[in-house]
Amino acid sequence: HFAINLNVRGIQPSATLRINELSNQLRSEGRDIIKLGLGQSPFPVPERVVDALKTHAHEKDYLPVKGLKALREAIAGYINRSERMRCGWEDVLIGPGSKELLFILQLAYYGDLLIPRPSWVSYAPQARIIGRSVHWLPTHADNNWQLTAEELDIICRDDPTRPRILILNYPSNPTGCTYTDDQLLALAHVARKYRIILLSDEIYGEVHFAGQHKSIARYYPEGTIISTGLSKWAGAGGWRLGTFIFPPQLRALQDAMAIIASETFTATSAPIQYAAVAAFDGGSDIDDYLLHSRRVLKVIGEYLHSRLIAMNIEVQKPEGGFYLLPDFAAYRSVLEKADIKTSASLCTRLLESTGIAILPGSDFGFSPDQLFARLAFVDFDGAAALALSAEEYAGR
Ligand code: PLP
Repeated sequence: HFAINLNVRGIQPSATLRINELSNQLRSEGRDIIKLGLGQSPFPVPERVVDALKTHAHEKDYLPVKGLKALREAIAGYINRSERMRCGWEDVLIGPGSKELLFILQLAYYGDLLIPRPSWVSYAPQARIIGRSVHWLPTHADNNWQLTAEELDIICRDDPTRPRILILNYPSNPTGCTYTDDQLLALAHVARKYRIILLSDEIYGEVHFAGQHKSIARYYPEGTIISTGLSKWAGAGGWRLGTFIFPPQLRALQDAMAIIASETFTATSAPIQYAAVAAFDGGSDIDDYLLHSRRVLKVIGEYLHSRLIAMNIEVQKPEGGFYLLPDFAAYRSVLEKADIKTSASLCTRLLESTGIAILPGSDFGFSPDQLFARLAFVDFDGAAALALSAEEYAGR
């Protein structure tokens, strides 16, 4: 006899991974599939970082739970250089992907979890696995999917001293939108007023199209945890390396997470951590790589945006990351005639009939009948795109 934990019953495997497997299966059956489902970087890992991995393949020892000191130093240097927050190496925690760190954060802290809707597919299921409820904060397309300081204040005002954590992800998966400096400042002001812990998910920070990503940690350093990693800007999703940077004021929370880490994953893969030092140390090759990646993503994102708008499909112009969140509501009556009433059935039919894989908005917090879908514009040859010159982009 066995029974499945009630918290896990009814949860489907991660939506993004599911669509990826289905797309792979259809491809293996010979179908021509355009994979716009999984948000995986199309670019190869920078050459120098791959070389560093080869050099350190023999590293076999368990590393310290919080991470390799040289990597923690490199990440602190990277965070200080980008002027997101003043930090030292002790403030850095390394994990096997920021997803795992987000999960153990949810295990470690006590209080309410606030998540803007729509948001990344895994925040809410992680909470559910732990048995924690989620407070959704709806955001709206006509406001660029941004949570406003006023809305946050209204949520907190009735019970000002309640412990809370707010996840803010910008540039955003799934909307492609980000916040301006002024908006971050206003949100930081409210967060400080109610002593909210901010989990600032900046995993797409380096792929801000204008290269101007700013962190809310600048305005609320004592209460912000920055989350980032190698997956999105260094093309290394499968390497599984993520990091959290804490203010000294949240050291107890960092230590609690390290205890959970020590009893679960122990430490992140040693060769990967050694290799990651090269990525976070940066250099002119990494700068070039980032410049080119942003340029490619901007061109493709803006092209797709204009094509969708021309089809009368409402969608925000992407400002960073790999995503667009089109609203197919204008086609509702046509779709209903084909018995398509939910974003899930829209995506399944689209995949079956055209071979285009995108993800239903219901996986990002929308109700099933809202006809949003997330499109990840990553199915192209990243290595070839990086090799194009500036003139060639302009020509395309
Ligand atoms: N946060 C967001 C918004 C993401 O889109 C992803 C990956 O899709 C992650 C976190 C997790 O990234 P990783 O676990 O690869 O660091």
